This record gives sequence, C-alpha cells and structure tokens, in this order.
Amino acid sequence: MIAQDERCPCLSGETYSACCGRFHSGTTVPATAEWLMRSRYSAFCCGNAQYLLNTWHPLTRPGSLELDAQLTWRRLDIVRTEHGGLLDEEGVVEFIAHYREGGIPGQQHEISRFRKVDRQWYYLDAAPDSAPAG
Ligand SMILES: [Zn+2]
Repeated sequence: MIAQDERCPCLSGETYSACCGRFHSGTTVPATAEWLMRSRYSAFCCGNAQYLLNTWHPLTRPGSLELDAQLTWRRLDIVRTEHGGLLDEEGVVEFIAHYREGGIPGQQHEISRFRKVDRQWYYLDAAPDSAPAG
C-alpha cells in the first residue's frame, strides 16, 4: 500500500492523495482517459485489483483479476493520447509501463482504448495493433 503523502506511483509529481488516491478512494472520477489510465497504472502498483475491475468496461471486464505479485511496476510513460478529453466518448492512450520481475527489467507497450459510460471513463481493451503484452 501507498501512504497518502507519498509521491504518486504514476509519477505526476503530486502526492498520492492529491493524485490517483482520489480516484482509488472514489472521492472523484478521472475526467479524461489519460487520468483513468494513470490511476489504473497506480492501482497495479498498489495491488488494487478491485479498482481495476471497477474501471473496466462491462463489455470486456473479466470476472476476477489476479495480480502478479512478482511484478514490481517502476515507471509509466504516456506515449500519446487521442481524444479521451472532457467532451469525448472514446479515447486512446498509448503507453509504456516499465516493471521488474525477479530483478529483471521488462516493459509493457500497449495502445489502450477507453470508452465513457454515464460520463465515466472505462478501460475497454488493447487496440489490435498493440505490441503483445509481456
Ligand atoms: Zn497519480
């Protein structure tokens, strides 16, 4: 778990409570697809599988989610975003998430698609032209 006054794992420069912690606690919801992406990355860092399920689009949401405890997430780079703004219904975020697994560095490069339901952003899926995960 992450203390409220620690730096947010999404590396925004804010504290956790002022950044993704607000979304994880349900105080507020991310206004853009990029912020949902960041908060989902932070949820991976915190091992918050429930938040990941809660922000998964009902069409593609898995029944349950097991996080890999061997994986330590180190850094998130947002490569680009497409739409996903306040007035959009769909958005795309390309990112590279860096991790270590058993001391060995790796990265996940994905183009994620997001969709709004009732003015809330949800993770839909990885775009077909994404690099394979893992
Ligand atoms: Zn954050």
